Amino acid sequence: MLTINTPTPIDVFMRLAATHYYAHRESIGSRGDFVTAPEISQMFGEVVGAWCAAECLARGEQSFHLVELGAGNGTMMSDILRATKDIASFTKNLKNVIIVENSPRLRAKQASKLDKYGDKISWANSIQELPEGNLIIVANEFLDALPIKQFEKIGDNFVEIGVGFIDSKLRYIQMDKASIDSPSCPEKGIVEVCEDAINIANCLATRKGGYVSALFIDYGYFTPPFTTTLQAVKAHKYHDVLSNIGEADITAHVDFGSLDSLFKANGFTTAYATQGEFLLRNGIEIRAKKLIASGADYFRIQKDLSRLISQNEMGLIFKAFEARSINS
Ligand code: SAH
Repeated sequence: MLTINTPTPIDVFMRLAATHYYAHRESIGSRGDFVTAPEISQMFGEVVGAWCAAECLARGEQSFHLVELGAGNGTMMSDILRATKDIASFTKNLKNVIIVENSPRLRAKQASKLDKYGDKISWANSIQELPEGNLIIVANEFLDALPIKQFEKIGDNFVEIGVGFIDSKLRYIQMDKASIDSPSCPEKGIVEVCEDAINIANCLATRKGGYVSALFIDYGYFTPPFTTTLQAVKAHKYHDVLSNIGEADITAHVDFGSLDSLFKANGFTTAYATQGEFLLRNGIEIRAKKLIASGADYFRIQKDLSRLISQNEMGLIFKAFEARSINS
């Protein structure tokens, strides 16, 4: 198990835990700790592929890099590339595929899954390393893995939340005062800030010399809930965030409202919908029908479809956020 020096702010704690977690554990899939949408059904990645193709076509005949942030087992990219392989304009203009991934263990899985594409696939450590040119970027359950800071409103002030040992047990503690601009936060409310997500959005929103079309799918909110959204999952069950550090997946909901403001302030157009709406709008039912017509099990496809789009399952809690630069 990972040990940490305390007291330490939540983001530092989360970064340590996540780095250890993704480097060591079988994280994603039925044998791992959690199942993501691309692992539920190929339909998810295929619909994201249709979205990528539509972006490419809407931008005219321009070459582009296809980028995925945090590609897990490589399943979604594999489904995107298969779904787009017969779209001539897409394959002709696709320069290369770049995966931003910091887990060596998952890079190896991605390399083996995408083996047949050879040199077309490369990896980067961060979004700052991406080459110049047009970008079509996709990310599923990536932003939620990035560390957040938490601030609690006490009277007229905010204090940063951290973790520390009290009676030799790890607990949440109050740390230094912080100046946070959040007038609508109620007393004892919590403001969450994901600096990494803001830096990524800022980097994309201020890129020069090419278009950016980005799609982020994750659980998140547009209006802050002013409560903690931190959660940990291990072996498909909720887990105490402060136990077994580095052995459970710790995530936080994504603040899409802040990302939206940032992109719009830089002249981007944006769209925000539930995952269910996004998948339906981009043709998942047509894809389901085609799979059934070509021999896939009807009941399995219906079950997977329902899991991805229904309001009681992933369809409502997960959101799809699109950001497009208007220059092309
Ligand atoms: N998109 C995949 C995996 C989601 S899990 C799916 O839907 O199945 C989160 C992914 O993001 C993992 O691949 C993890 O290694 C990667 N990741 C987390 N933090 C990262 C960071 N700071 N930089 C690059 N990759 C990161």
